[in-house]
Amino acid sequence: MNYKITGGQVMTYTNGVLAIEKRDIYVVGDTIRFTADETKDNFEVIDAGSCLVMPGLINMHTHAYMTIMRNYADDVDFDEWLFKRVMPVEDTLPKEGAYWTNLLAMMEMLRTGTTCFVDMHMFHEQSCRAASEAGVRGYIGRGLVGEDLYSDGWSRFSQAIEEKEKYEGDLLKFILSPHAIYSCGTKLLTQVVEESEKRGMLRQTHLSEGMNEVDNCRKQHGKTPVAYLNDLGFLSDHTILAHCVQMQDDDIDIIARSGSTVVTNPASNAKLGNGFAPVCDFANAGINVAIGTDGTCSNNTLNMFREMGLVSLIHKGVQRSSTAAPADEVVRMATVNAARALRRSGELGEISDGAKADLVFVDLTEPSMFPANNIMSSLCYSANGSEVKSVMIGGKFAMKNREYVSIDAERVRYEVQKMVDAYL
Ligand SMILES: [Zn+2]
Repeated sequence: MNYKITGGQVMTYTNGVLAIEKRDIYVVGDTIRFTADETKDNFEVIDAGSCLVMPGLINMHTHAYMTIMRNYADDVDFDEWLFKRVMPVEDTLPKEGAYWTNLLAMMEMLRTGTTCFVDMHMFHEQSCRAASEAGVRGYIGRGLVGEDLYSDGWSRFSQAIEEKEKYEGDLLKFILSPHAIYSCGTKLLTQVVEESEKRGMLRQTHLSEGMNEVDNCRKQHGKTPVAYLNDLGFLSDHTILAHCVQMQDDDIDIIARSGSTVVTNPASNAKLGNGFAPVCDFANAGINVAIGTDGTCSNNTLNMFREMGLVSLIHKGVQRSSTAAPADEVVRMATVNAARALRRSGELGEISDGAKADLVFVDLTEPSMFPANNIMSSLCYSANGSEVKSVMIGGKFAMKNREYVSIDAERVRYEVQKMVDAYL
């Protein structure tokens, strides 16, 4: 199906300039076109007169399957949260149930304008099936742990490669995802570098999230987690680093020189008492910064509008500067910067001629968005995500007028509740 989207305000991206302009755009197949021959192809006309048409938001770090643990382990110490509450539940959850918890995550992402997410998961097949069926774009990665990829990490690694071969296509891509320096040995991390380079895959990990990680790394390796990973060759322009809260010594310079992307997760870091990543210092050092929600057990939402608002407000507060983290820079973090990290600039995270048609229709008549004195500000400071009316991914609607196209929401709620009753 081809579409002519008419009458709306459109957030365009041309030669590095993010702008809001009233204009028509076309969707031909899975691609945005700024012009089209209306006599040649059939176009269904979409009246976007009351909407902002913006690029889909990209959630650069999450664990979609964790929706079952939303609000399950709050107000507890970080180590207790991870090792005593989250990990034991993960070990008992049935694989098939993760299909439903992933679908619940897709529902929330669509409702709040996310069209692409970078995932670290436990249940490969179920994650892939849920994203594919919901029509959501994903970079999926099996969380890897252990000392040696080819022995104790082998079943997880071979699953990751199997899933890549079975499911990789236009919507789903795969990313190598060692969990963290404290759950992966030096040998395994080095093997991940070699495998990701051999296979041309991106790699991601959690890094310098809490101070225990930094202190233990100094004791064990005599250096900071950032320096340790850099010395293993892990940091590169194909590397995505979640958190990076506890920056020490010359960590920021090392990340800047490597070309790695930092994904900030402000709600998760604040909620788990880990503090605030130095986002403004990252940006000043020329580091590509993107935004993630983390999982629903540490946030507890997958709502990128709330996350954009937090990035802006937290860093104005931390910097004691009302000009820090301005709205248009934060919107870039959730769109074009994310696409750059995924090596998909020009294709994802932007509305430009030839980009993928991943579009979000935001209702500007909602009270929280009216009057539209400054739409970029509205997105950061006023929106709560409920203003998202429709979502298109790869030229196909995944949610239209707040109705899911291919998800049976009532069934998802029923199945997730059944699991909660049985396992939590
Ligand atoms: Zn995480």
